[in-house]
Amino acid sequence: MEYKSFLIKYAEIGTKGKNRYVFEDILCKNIRSALKRVDGKFLVRKEYGRIFVDCMEDYDYDETVEALQHVFGIVGICPVVVIPNQPWETLEKELITFVDDSYLDKNFTFKVNCRRINKEYPMHSMEINVEAGAILLDAFPELKVDVHQPEVMIHIELRDNIYLYSVRLPGPGGLPVGTNGKGMLLLSGGIDSPVAGYLVSKRGVHLEAVYFDAPPHTSPQAKQKVIDLAKLVARYSGAVTLHIIHFTEIQEAIYQTCPEDEITILMRRYMMRIAQYLAEKNDCQALITGESIGQVASQTIYSLQVTNAVCSYPVFRPCIGMDKQEIVSLAEKIKTYETSILPYEDCCTTFVAKHPVTKPKLADIEASEALLADKIDALLRQAIETEEVRKLW
Ligand code: ATP
Ligand code: MG
Repeated sequence: MEYKSFLIKYAEIGTKGKNRYVFEDILCKNIRSALKRVDGKFLVRKEYGRIFVDCMEDYDYDETVEALQHVFGIVGICPVVVIPNQPWETLEKELITFVDDSYLDKNFTFKVNCRRINKEYPMHSMEINVEAGAILLDAFPELKVDVHQPEVMIHIELRDNIYLYSVRLPGPGGLPVGTNGKGMLLLSGGIDSPVAGYLVSKRGVHLEAVYFDAPPHTSPQAKQKVIDLAKLVARYSGAVTLHIIHFTEIQEAIYQTCPEDEITILMRRYMMRIAQYLAEKNDCQALITGESIGQVASQTIYSLQVTNAVCSYPVFRPCIGMDKQEIVSLAEKIKTYETSILPYEDCCTTFVAKHPVTKPKLADIEASEALLADKIDALLRQAIETEEVRKLW
């Protein structure tokens, strides 16, 4: 069966009242931009309560579906046959052809579900359900009707055109990116932060990202890995602006001057400060990290409190209550896992204490930071000045 169109289903959430048009327009725009990854020419159009993608020339079905499955806001993708409005006698034949072409093996139970949006159509939906069922049973005696739990639901939608479909492929759900502001993701090369970015973006949030690079302690491959991860997340979130910050001197200063067991916490606090500065400068409303309670010493609830103390922006940590295995499963699903586990060192693993504090006290940490007082402002300024910006998608 060759389909020329897809019917896009989206959840009603966020689509009430005046918002509905904003939501639909942003979703259409995001679909157009996702389809730029696919060869072919597509027309994305809306009709009340529905979005349609028409394929205007030859296209690759699998690639197109895959691209659509990365667009947040979509809950279902239905390959659909579009036929011009016509009387029931002609439509009957189209219906038989549709079922014949769609299913080689007719050994299944079905139900017909008609929606009559075009109230001019001379038959009512209930009548059509009954008639269509009878015609199909007649044409294909192997078929059986099951009105409660049909294996196949055959949809007929009567609009200006008539739409026939019976397959619904899952979309990623969520809200269209661009309906909910922008967040600054602290993106390391690990497993957790790309998942965190995905989860927040799923709620309609645009992403920017910041990576703290520490050459020569970290390699060019470690940086490339973060760039690759940003691109993988961008398949869902749309283009990501990645800010790469040269963090080496700050890290070395902490390492040389402060108590060894506090270095990770101190590093994390300076990262959060810079991230918040970038968030403010780039019109983001929140920071996003991949932290999860208790995963490592710097993520005990005490450490998180101390890290959080430098931020006035909200910090979203969508992995906070997830076990590692749950995060890994999501990373596999969104295809960041393979890249995340490449063995390149990250800056937190290069400078790591043997016995890091697990219950840091804010006063102690602030006292340690005071040891850097004479140079830290200059170092922060330098780090920010060396910012490298890449737009990735
Ligand atoms: P991840 O798997 O995301 O790297 P992790 O388990 O390795 O997380 P940490 O290294 O403690 O945990 O980092 C906690 C969070 O801090 C990360 O999820 C990320 O949001 C941020 N982070 C850590 N290192 C960096 C870095 N070099 N650049 C940007 N963000 C970082
Ligand atoms: Mg990490």
